[in-house]
Amino acid sequence: MSQNNNLLASLSDVSTESEFFSPFPQGYQKGKTRYIIIMGTVMSGLGKGIFSSCLAKLMQDKGLNVSPIKLEGYLNIDSGTLNPYRHGEVFVLDDGMECDMDLGTYERMLNKNLSKANFATSGQIFSDVLHKERHGDYLGRDVQMIPHLTGEVKLKLRTLAMKSDADIVFVEIGGTVGDLENSFYIEAMRELAYEEGPHSTCFVALTYILEPKTLGEQKSKAAQLGIRQLMQLGVQPDIIACRASNPVNEKVRQKISIYSNVPMERVFSMHDCSSIYTIPAMLRESGVDFGVLQLLKIEDRIKLRTERKEWAKWCDFTDKLGAEDKEINIGITGKYTSVRDSYASILNALEHAGIAKGSKVNIKWIETSEVNDKNAAEFLKDVDGIIVPGGFGTRGTEGKISCIKYARENNLPYLGLCLGFQMAVIEFARNVCGLKDANSTEIIPNCPAPVIDILPEQKKIEGLGGNMRLGGRDVELKRGTIAWQIYGKQDSVRLRFRHRYEVDPKYIETFENKGLVFSGKAPNQPIMQILELPDHPFFMGTQAHPCLTSRPLNPEPMFVGLVDAAAKRKYKAK
Ligand code: GLN
Repeated sequence: MSQNNNLLASLSDVSTESEFFSPFPQGYQKGKTRYIIIMGTVMSGLGKGIFSSCLAKLMQDKGLNVSPIKLEGYLNIDSGTLNPYRHGEVFVLDDGMECDMDLGTYERMLNKNLSKANFATSGQIFSDVLHKERHGDYLGRDVQMIPHLTGEVKLKLRTLAMKSDADIVFVEIGGTVGDLENSFYIEAMRELAYEEGPHSTCFVALTYILEPKTLGEQKSKAAQLGIRQLMQLGVQPDIIACRASNPVNEKVRQKISIYSNVPMERVFSMHDCSSIYTIPAMLRESGVDFGVLQLLKIEDRIKLRTERKEWAKWCDFTDKLGAEDKEINIGITGKYTSVRDSYASILNALEHAGIAKGSKVNIKWIETSEVNDKNAAEFLKDVDGIIVPGGFGTRGTEGKISCIKYARENNLPYLGLCLGFQMAVIEFARNVCGLKDANSTEIIPNCPAPVIDILPEQKKIEGLGGNMRLGGRDVELKRGTIAWQIYGKQDSVRLRFRHRYEVDPKYIETFENKGLVFSGKAPNQPIMQILELPDHPFFMGTQAHPCLTSRPLNPEPMFVGLVDAAAKRKYKAK
């Protein structure tokens, strides 16, 4: 039975007499939580998640409790089976939910952990409705898109509102207005506004202002039509955010305002800027945060003192942007080298670490299919450090191992993430321990020295959806090691995982005898989580994905360690 059902007062209001079907969680108080709904028109990729998370951050700074939710249109139950090349990286939450990369943006901006309640797909919603139908919860009724499917969407939002005790729930609808697959979400939001009553919802439409090079001026027609399409669905936007390459001029804003019934002071320019971390300031200057408070009538809930403190903290961080006095090149090896979104969290983590250490980090992508022991030096000649990130399958793995060998032997700072940790183990096994045939059974199933093998708990699993070793786990740190030092001499740290394979425990002694240190382990199982080489300037690998927990205000120590070592190597400082 769906877990939402426990929360329902009852579905007895499912009557064959009334058309008013709208399930509420037990104890739900109308008016306590307000909803800000963000939709995109004209095209996808406008940065709805960025806009939404920046606005949510401003509201959080004011002492309000905010909770975001992303509603995805696709039928997959989660993002775990999506190819990052098509859809951006798979972000993993502490509770193991595999979700859209936008959840990463929210966690970074809000500096807090989210959960599966903050992410929904059409697949989940349909599956919950079908489950209830089989259980007999809608007895006597034909189950329909409206009101049952839309009812399920509203139930999700209200459950989140209640569980998180939110002042504001930020609802980001994936895709673009006009997509068939998100149309029931928009209908659900129209119903939500009707049911929750005046001042409970605020609709934000993101749109795009074209500026064709051949014309040299901004054109608003596509934006007007996109907004009109939203209005045809019965939704009147309250705020329009105009994405554009340059600041949107007054005339264009006027046209949009007239066409959409949205007053000029609520039609904002959200033009491109150098860093997403400058967007909160841009939004504050435009007054959108106060516009929202007035619309929702919750000015009385804000705490000005908290806001002053939080804003000062944020400005201390943004003041460092662009003030870096060093510049380093980090090489990233990987399969999805042409799509930056596939490595979003790693790029973010490097940026956070760079800002913290006063280093501008340039990325050099390294396609490893062509790399071998002989030519690795050539490929790595202008990098100051390298990362071998996570991945699946066999492509380019030998090239990665050659890069790691070069890094180990030439004191080049190295950070291995998940697959990069496993490849470092294989390299060490082959070239230091003399296990020439060492490999992973993911790459060679019958390999004679399977130093990386499938986790015992994974052996009996069939199918590929949502069943890896997933989510946040405590990692026990070994006292006196580099990992222990960089994590502030704590005995334990929480990191996030997504893998099926591990170091086969029977080889651990062989590795340790040759000087490899496993500085992080699972508390109650022989699962190795962090490795390091004590005599190298910085050589670290982790079975986890520390990039997922790096935050602008709390840069991830392993990334800081890499950036620091790379800068020291380049600038020869002690
Ligand atoms: N393919 C490896 C495993 O399943 C590594 C996974 C990863 O890098 N996320 O263990």
